Amino acid sequence: MQLLEDRIRRDGVVKSADVLKVDAFLNHQMDVALFDAMAREWWRLFSDRPINKILTIEASGIGIAAIAARCFGVPVVFAKKSQSINLDGTVYATRIQSFTHGKVFDVIVSTRYIGEDDHVLIIDDFLANGCALNGLIEICENAGATVEGIGIAIEKGFQGGGDALRERGYNLQSLAVIESMDPKTGEIVFRA
Ligand code: 5GP
Repeated sequence: MQLLEDRIRRDGVVKSADVLKVDAFLNHQMDVALFDAMAREWWRLFSDRPINKILTIEASGIGIAAIAARCFGVPVVFAKKSQSINLDGTVYATRIQSFTHGKVFDVIVSTRYIGEDDHVLIIDDFLANGCALNGLIEICENAGATVEGIGIAIEKGFQGGGDALRERGYNLQSLAVIESMDPKTGEIVFRA
C-alpha cells in the first residue's frame, strides 16, 4: 500500500537491523486518517470472507483493529496480556514470546467473546517471527473459531514469520512488506 510505504519512509526510524520504530503515526501517536485508509484496504482484501469478528492483541494492535472493525461492521476483541492465568475454563490461554520485550507473556481471551460460530479476521501492527500470530491462531483453534484471514500493517519479510504462515495456507495480507532495512543509512527496501 503506497500510502503506508511512503509514511514509513518519511517517519519510520530504523532502530537496529530488525527493529523499526513507527511511534510517530502507528503505535504511540496514531494517525487515524491513515488507519481509515488501511482499514479500507483490508476491507477490499477480505470483504469476500464471512468475517463476523476481528481479533488483535494488546496494546498496539487495538487502534488499527478498532478502525478496521468499524469498516467491517463487526466487534473487535483484543487478547489480553495477563500476569496470572486462572485456568478455570473461562478463558482461552496461550503463551507468546514478545519480540519487543524479549519475554514470554501469558495471553488470554474470554470464552464469552470467541467461539465456534466465529469467523475471525486477525489484525496486528507488525509481523516479525510470527509468535504473536501463532498465539492468536492457537486461541482461535482452541475456541473452534475459523481464521478467515490475517491483516498486518507492516511485515518484516526478512524475518520469515509471514512466509511460514502463507505456506501453512493462511490468507495473510500485509499492507507493507519490508525486504531489508539498514540502521546505518536508514534505507528501507519494500517487497514489490
Ligand atoms: P512476532 O511475534 O511476529 O515476532 O512480532 C510481532 C509483534 O512484535 C507485534 O505485535 C509488534 O508489537 C512487535 N514488533 C515486532 N517487530 C517490531 C518492530 O520492528 N517495531 C515495533 N514497534 N514492534 C515490533
